[in-house]
Amino acid sequence: MILAGHQIAAAAVAAVVMVWLLRSRWTHAHPRPALVLWQMSGLTLVLASVGALFGFGLAPFRRGVFPSLLDLPSRWHELDLWHLAAVAAGLLLVAWLVVNQILCFRDTARARARHRLLLQLVAQPNSGALVVDHPVAVAYCVPGRHPRIVVSAGARRLLSKVELDAVLAHERAHARERHDLVLAPFQALRRLVPSSRLLTRVCSTIELLVEMCADDRAARQHGREPLASALERFHANGATGTPTGALAIAGADAHVVARIRRLRQPEPTAFPLVWPLVVGLLGVALVTSASIFALPLQ
Ligand SMILES: [Zn+2]
Repeated sequence: MILAGHQIAAAAVAAVVMVWLLRSRWTHAHPRPALVLWQMSGLTLVLASVGALFGFGLAPFRRGVFPSLLDLPSRWHELDLWHLAAVAAGLLLVAWLVVNQILCFRDTARARARHRLLLQLVAQPNSGALVVDHPVAVAYCVPGRHPRIVVSAGARRLLSKVELDAVLAHERAHARERHDLVLAPFQALRRLVPSSRLLTRVCSTIELLVEMCADDRAARQHGREPLASALERFHANGATGTPTGALAIAGADAHVVARIRRLRQPEPTAFPLVWPLVVGLLGVALVTSASIFALPLQ
């Protein structure tokens, strides 16, 4: 029961940090540290939710989670209805999360494989990217172990040399930093509850932060203005939208506008002094959540 209480406290810490991140303005000025907090708080919340259910449900066995689960078929009659319900909910939650994440990875991998095959047939390599002979201006990255940076003939006509270089640097940043893996768990959670406005907002926030990380890397190499003007041209051409499983230069309209504004008028928002404290607090919450799998329940 004590461990179940710790799990609830850890989940509460993660939830408070998430609300803080959703309401904060500093995240746009410092997207990378913000993403670290999002990943830590997301993992803590999921682990703590599972841990709270198992911590309460299996407490009468006074053993670790794994030995207790192995004992469950022969000792389930020792649990009362509430403990049994908590164990069942924990098992269902784990199965739901794991199966959904596997299905997400599988569907995304299939979509990317189909796209890579298509690119082999229609695209020509040029200047470190694959060029598709299509009039619509698009640029995107198909991430993975063997990423592809794709740019259309329309985009090459639309952009100047320096703008195109900035766009390609942005896409390379997505590929090199594996932003697809940062997004994957959150997108999987959204797929579980597609009608949840809160999850949609969280995913949208994290997608925007990922774009800003790639923007920052491209801007360091080629300057802020070439990337901002390239985004503006894509936006004016209505070139928004992302192939399934890819990371495009210009995604959602609102994000593109925010990114252009951020590149042209960066807000001098100070880095929050409490960031190390929050990381430490989340670290303790995360270790507390994970401890349920190592310590005997009590
Ligand atoms: Zn991007």
